[in-house]
Amino acid sequence: MPVLEPTPPDDDYLIVTLLSAGLAEILDRRAGSGPDEANTDGLLPAAWRAGFGRLWMRCAQLGQLPDWSDLDLLALCGRPMTTWPVALRLSSADLDQSLLDGDRLTDFAVQGARNARSDVEAGWTQQRVFEALKQAAAQNGKSPAERQEAYVRLRRFLIDHAVVDDTQVTKLERHLPERDNSGQTYVLKLMQTAYDQKPATDVERYRLCRRCHNVVARRGVSCGTAGCGANEPTRFVDLNPLAVIYEQNRATRRYIHDPGLVEARILNDLHADEPAGAIRVTPYPKLDKLDVLIEFLEQSDKTKVVETWGVDAKDQVSATLLGRSFTWPTDIECDRRYLALPMHRWLRAGYSKDLRAALDGRGHDVRVIDEKGLVRQVRARARELSR
Ligand SMILES: [Zn+2]
Repeated sequence: MPVLEPTPPDDDYLIVTLLSAGLAEILDRRAGSGPDEANTDGLLPAAWRAGFGRLWMRCAQLGQLPDWSDLDLLALCGRPMTTWPVALRLSSADLDQSLLDGDRLTDFAVQGARNARSDVEAGWTQQRVFEALKQAAAQNGKSPAERQEAYVRLRRFLIDHAVVDDTQVTKLERHLPERDNSGQTYVLKLMQTAYDQKPATDVERYRLCRRCHNVVARRGVSCGTAGCGANEPTRFVDLNPLAVIYEQNRATRRYIHDPGLVEARILNDLHADEPAGAIRVTPYPKLDKLDVLIEFLEQSDKTKVVETWGVDAKDQVSATLLGRSFTWPTDIECDRRYLALPMHRWLRAGYSKDLRAALDGRGHDVRVIDEKGLVRQVRARARELSR
């Protein structure tokens, strides 16, 4: 007997993005910092109810009517989706993920919630940091080139410094001295948004991971950064504060600092090649529309650009969600477009295959590549063009 099915969604990513967005809102309400704190009506968030509704439909299609309560589903969210009593149509890598880790969203759920265009608490901090960053850059440059330079300096500061003392901040303020009406520098405003402040007047020694520059509690313990292991070498840094030490807050670390490491490595490698004169590298062109712009220069006349490549580097948990949300800026013309992955994602079984499948047919014409492969290709192309 033919079974009449409601038009199925093409897969179950919508269910998990809705549930992620709903969970984000539930956690925000609990923290009392949600956007609708004032008019909380006691109902669960609309995204949660929509996600639950779709999940219910999915179960019904499979002939198993669920009798779960919201609390049952909340408990499931803390477990890998492979263990859920309904087989969701997600990539096998994503099925290994859960949505909650204790009372926090997992990175997968944060990515999902972002795809559902929801504001996550961490997303707000991240958003506020980006706004403070853009404002500090805009106020400290008279021309687009000066604003771009200020932006790059500040962006790199956030990636290179997980912890700093106030004397280093004062130095940065001397380079970018503009102040708001209250007399505070825009740099300090950015610092206060992206870092927690700790009063300190004595020298303090921090142990940092050499690879990601994050603080490591003690020897043999992992820094916890994706892509870093437990046995990464560490180094010590002595901070010498007058009054304050700034420690990067969690949202900045996880959503700005850590994902920025891959582009910082690519930029460092390519900057080393620049003096040879075959390429010009622009970090974060047009105030961060992309991560890297590489221009190959005419050898007889180095003011002429013969070819331009653009690179967006992405360090995200779910390849499928990344592929679906990926966009290429319309106002940057490139002969080649690259989506570069850090090695720890690239080497994960199925990751680039899932990513290509999600990008397929979306008209980006983008090449997926690993960070090291990209640098090799740039070098090879520079040699080719200079022949
Ligand atoms: Zn590390």
